[in-house]
Amino acid sequence: MKELNDLLDKLKSNGYKITEQRKAILKALVSNNNNLITVEKLLSESKKNYHKTNMTTIYRNIEILEKLDLIHKVINEEGTSLYKLSCSINHHHHHIICLKCGKTEAIDFCPLKDIEQLLNDKDFCLTDHKFELYGYCKECKNSENKKD
Ligand SMILES: [Zn+2]
Ligand SMILES: [Zn+2]
Ligand SMILES: [Zn+2]
Repeated sequence: MKELNDLLDKLKSNGYKITEQRKAILKALVSNNNNLITVEKLLSESKKNYHKTNMTTIYRNIEILEKLDLIHKVINEEGTSLYKLSCSINHHHHHIICLKCGKTEAIDFCPLKDIEQLLNDKDFCLTDHKFELYGYCKECKNSENKKD
């Protein structure tokens, strides 16, 4: 997980000013840790830190954070964009995502290495791929069982 101060430093060193709204958004992302959240949730959480935060600022900051590789975006099956801070793992990796609460865990393993080799044999160069795993976290699995 990234700390707020690291994020602020990174923004500052890239020439971005630290405004109250920006800080409120970053704080909300840090406190959500590895949970994926929607922009609506990010807005309501950010507002708790600074009540003047608005949707336009949320979108503008997401754009900046994406450009600096500080945020990870996942589009769920309904087509909704979900966000969380990038993991501290700096190399290529994957995630398991809880379908119910959006909690994620990093999977420090790429199953597509063999496919890459296969494609090389076919004179195709693989430049990018996205691969996300979905399921239920322990808490959500337990709460499902209780309902039955
Ligand atoms: Zn990650
Ligand atoms: Zn869950
Ligand atoms: Zn991979």
